[in-house]
Parts: sequence; structure tokens; C-alpha cells
Amino acid sequence: MTVSLPNNQDNLVDIILNTVDDPMMVTDGQGVIVRINRAFEDCFGWRTEEAIGQTPRILNSQKHDAIFFRHLWDSLKKDGFWEGNIWNRAKSGHEIETQCRIKAQLDHDGRALYYVSRMKVENIENSDVVRNHDALTGLPDQHLFIDRLEQAMIAVQRVKKSVALLQIGLDHFSTINEGLGYEIGDKLLNEISKRLHDCMRGSDTVARLGGDLFAMALQVASIDDGVIVAEKVLKSMQDTFKIDGKSLNMTASIGISLYPKDAEGAADLMKLADTAMHHAKKKGGNVFEFFAEDMNAKAKNRLEMETAIRQALSKREFMLYYQPKVSSKTEQIVGAEALIRWISPERGFMPPGAFIPIAEETGLIGEIGSWVLQEAARQNKAWQDAGLPPIRIAVNVAAPQFRAPDFIDHVLNALDNNDLSPKWLELEIVESMLMGDTEMTIEKLHQVRDIGCHLSIDDFGTGYSSLSYLTRFPITTLKIDRAFIKDLECDKTMAEISRAIIGMSQGLELEVVAEGAETDAHIQFLRENGCQTVQGFYYSKPVPADEFAVILAKGTLHKG
Ligand code: C2E
Ligand code: MG
Ligand code: MG
Repeated sequence: MTVSLPNNQDNLVDIILNTVDDPMMVTDGQGVIVRINRAFEDCFGWRTEEAIGQTPRILNSQKHDAIFFRHLWDSLKKDGFWEGNIWNRAKSGHEIETQCRIKAQLDHDGRALYYVSRMKVENIENSDVVRNHDALTGLPDQHLFIDRLEQAMIAVQRVKKSVALLQIGLDHFSTINEGLGYEIGDKLLNEISKRLHDCMRGSDTVARLGGDLFAMALQVASIDDGVIVAEKVLKSMQDTFKIDGKSLNMTASIGISLYPKDAEGAADLMKLADTAMHHAKKKGGNVFEFFAEDMNAKAKNRLEMETAIRQALSKREFMLYYQPKVSSKTEQIVGAEALIRWISPERGFMPPGAFIPIAEETGLIGEIGSWVLQEAARQNKAWQDAGLPPIRIAVNVAAPQFRAPDFIDHVLNALDNNDLSPKWLELEIVESMLMGDTEMTIEKLHQVRDIGCHLSIDDFGTGYSSLSYLTRFPITTLKIDRAFIKDLECDKTMAEISRAIIGMSQGLELEVVAEGAETDAHIQFLRENGCQTVQGFYYSKPVPADEFAVILAKGTLHKG
């Protein structure tokens, strides 16, 4: 894309811009980048031909909110000038604080023709950005990578996590260079670096070690996290690369070493990842291998589980069981929780804890979750149509399912398809889902309530989150976690906490349900302390739909 500046003195403009040591960027009146200087390329890792035609959003570090940018635009429009500190993000993901001055160049009518930004780099360590980046891809080089790896190793020590080091080697890359020339090879490496960059998360680093060798340093809570990223990298290569009108296919071999499990030092970790990568190559490429054999066994098991879950979905091996929620006063059934069950022909009974977390990590939870919504709604409507007392059925919602943009659509579909009134559907979420992206969360929770569904906090009391959210979010019910109920009799603190949660719910006019009530003593305590609803083995275990229908037809679960 060629862009003309006034007087067509393009070269002169470039020469002038390149005499400035600070990164500079020129955008047109619509905010499209038309020029950057060499200092910009060096600092942020974007090359001129990549940056031109894009918008300054390529520098967005997510550190500033919408209000910050609104002020910036307001003063540009009003005064034609803005100055302030701004955190930018380099192509490598590195965050750079700059002191930025933006000036608008206006036409006779006061409309902006160009915006010229000059950014003074504030954080000194960003000299790294200039020196220690690979010129071709803009990624950190080996030197900077080892530095970042060491930083990650220090960071995880405090929080008892691990670092997974992925060494990624392209399979048979030399055939591209030799067959099609270095220019094509370089362009392919650039495209690959972009795809690798898209595979990583905020705190991770991806680097080019040299030639066809890349590396990633990931802070991971469990080895599964390493597996997820390795799978993502392999998948990211699957789409054909289009370079200069040619379609190229590429695969990679990945070796993984873990800190502190495999080695204590960065250099050793690099060696072990390299050894593992060569094993992966020997296997024919397009695979990942851990250095440690036991990790390979675990990763294999995880991959097999993923395949098995996919099959279970297509072969309809999942079922819902229902556990009654009972009024502590009248012992009437006031609702039920739908709980997923998987009886696999190969693996036998699989408790939800054995497959829900894997389904969450692999994205399969979306499909499972919408099946659960549909099935619970279908069953509930069928019971109502059969003349059984109408009850509200609660469905567990997993965090990634809730975060998906089409979550509300799935809820609406389940209700519409089964002609079920929303008041008979309750969604159970856990406290941790209320933290983080709160604006989106609040909006969605309100949508759920606007539809007319109930909303409860599951496992309440275990999430260590601030209680202030109880007033901010439109919640209808708290479910006291089983851990508190279990130890009511032997642990005074647990009894006090349960009492406090019940009292607080009453104050906030929330319904309160005790989970895991198993004994006479539990029921007595809950009744005495004003807990309206109980759910637990005392009244009934979760049971298949046909058994639940029998219980529901009776309407109450009198004991003793
Ligand atoms: P949860 O939502 O807290 O469900 C309650 C769990 O406690 C259920 O385990 C239930 O069987 C068990 N339980 C109920 N009363 C008692 C009791 O008196 N004593 C004891 N020892 N246990 C009791 P389950 O069915 O194994 O489910 C475990 C977790 O798996 C659920 O915890 C929920 O987080 C998740 N889960 C279950 N079904 C689904 C689902 O359809 N979707 C999603 N996303 N998660 C689900
Ligand atoms: Mg639940
Ligand atoms: Mg629970």
C-alpha cells in the first residue's frame, strides 16, 4: 500500500521521520496508520509494511479503559493536541510505557487530516525490546527468551506453579528454503510467528531461537495447561499458509520440559526440551513429547479422554440425574438439581469431576452444557405435561460456557424449544465466575434475570471472594457448600459460618439452600437456624429421571 503525504515528498518525509530517535506514527483523519519510523519498528516490532493500513489498536495493551481513550479523543478534537503516558504493547506482547504527544493536523474546515504521535519510551528495560528481538519476526530472541524464562521460574516459585518450556521445531522447513527460496521461507516464518503468538496467553513468552526453531515459556498450574498450548500450536499450523500466491503446509514437533520437575536451571531446561523435541521428530513430527516419561503417559490419557468425551457426545452416552431440593419445614419437594452422568461402555461410570474439567479446557463444555440445558428443560416440561407438580430445576453452568458469547442464546433456545416457562429454570454458577471481567458478567447475569430464570451461587463460601458482589449481582439463591455442612457437628467454626451465611441470606432476602445434608443432626441444625431448603443424601441421592418422577409424584419426602 502506498500512501501519499502532501507534496508527494514521501522519501523526504521518511528521511525526516527516521532522524527522530523516538518511535513515531502518523495516522490519517480516519485513524489509519500511514507512516511509522524506524524507531517505531525497532521498539514495537511492527514493520512498516505490516503496520501501514492498520490502526493504532495494534499497540493496545488493554491497560487503559474506554474512558481513558475517550478523554484522549476529546482533547484531540477540542485542542488538536494530547499528551500523556500510555502503555503500549509491542508485537511480541511486551508492554512498553511511553510518554506520548499526539498532534492533529487540521484542514481549513478544522477537520483532522493527520495525527502525528511521538512516543518517548519510559521503561528502561525496554532497551531490550530494541536490542533483543529477532529482526525477521519481531519476536524476542534466544537471549531475551532465557531472561524471560528465568523470570517466569522466579515468578512461579512464590505461587507453587510450574513453568512449561516448549521448544517448537518446524518439520522439514529446509525443503521450503531450498525449493522455493529464502524470501518465501522468511515470509512463512513470519506467518508462523504470528500464529504462535496467537496461541499464547498474557504472561507467556514466545521467541524465535533461530532458524526454524521457536520456543515458548508458559506459567502453568498443571501439566494440562502445557498440553493445551502444545495442542493449540499443532492445530494452529493446520490451516494452509498462503505466501505469494503459493499454498504451503507446515507441521511442527514440540519438546516440553518442566520447571521445577525436570531441571532447576534455564540452560538445563532448554537442553531437555531439545531432547524431547528430537524424540517428537523421530516419531514423524506433528506431535509433542514431554521430556519426562510419566508426563507423556498423563498427556496421552488426557488426549484419550478428550476423544472419548467427543464420542460420548455423538453417541449420546450422557444422562441427567436429578437430586431433590426439599423444604426443611414441610419436607415438600421444592426443586431439583440436574447432575450429569456418563456411563461409558469402555470406561464404566465416570463421575463429573473426571471429565467436566477436561471438557472445560478443551472447549467441549459448550456442547455438553447446551445439551444439559436442553435435556433439563425437555424433562421438566415432560413432567409438567404429565401432571406432576411443577418445580424449578437447576442446571450447573461452567465458567467457559457462561463466558461464551452465545450462552444466553443457548438458554433461550432450551426454553423456546421445549416451551418451558423461564421461572422453572435456575442456573447455578460458582463465585469465581463473578470475578474478573465484571462488566460483561453483570450484563449477562442481568440478561439471565430479565429472561426470568433464577440464579444461584453454588458452593458458596469456598470462593474467597469479596462479599460485596452479593449486592451488585442479581442473585436469587446461595447454596452453602457441602464442606461446611459436613463438619457442622464436630467443628464449631463450620457451624458458625453456616449460621452466618443463613443470617446474611435472610438479610439480603436471598433464598438459601444447604448442600450435602446427610444426617438428622444436619437437618435439625439447618431447621433451627432458619435454612429454608436442603439438598443432600439425607433426603435422596441424585437419581435417574424415572425414579425422580416417582418421588415427585409423592411430592414430599417424609423421614422418620
Ligand atoms: P455441585 O453442583 O456442587 O453438585 C453437588 C454435588 O454434591 C453432586 O455431585 C452431588 O451428587 C453431591 N451431593 C449432593 N448431596 C450430597 C451429600 O449429601 N453427600 C455427599 N457426599 N455428596 C452430595 P456430582 O453429581 O458428582 O457433581 C459434582 C460436581 O460436578 C457438581 O457439583 C458440579 O460442579 C459438577 N457438575 C455436575 N453436573 C454438571 C453439569 O451438568 N454441568 C457442569 N458444568 N457441571 C456439572
Ligand atoms: Mg450445583
Ligand atoms: Mg455445590
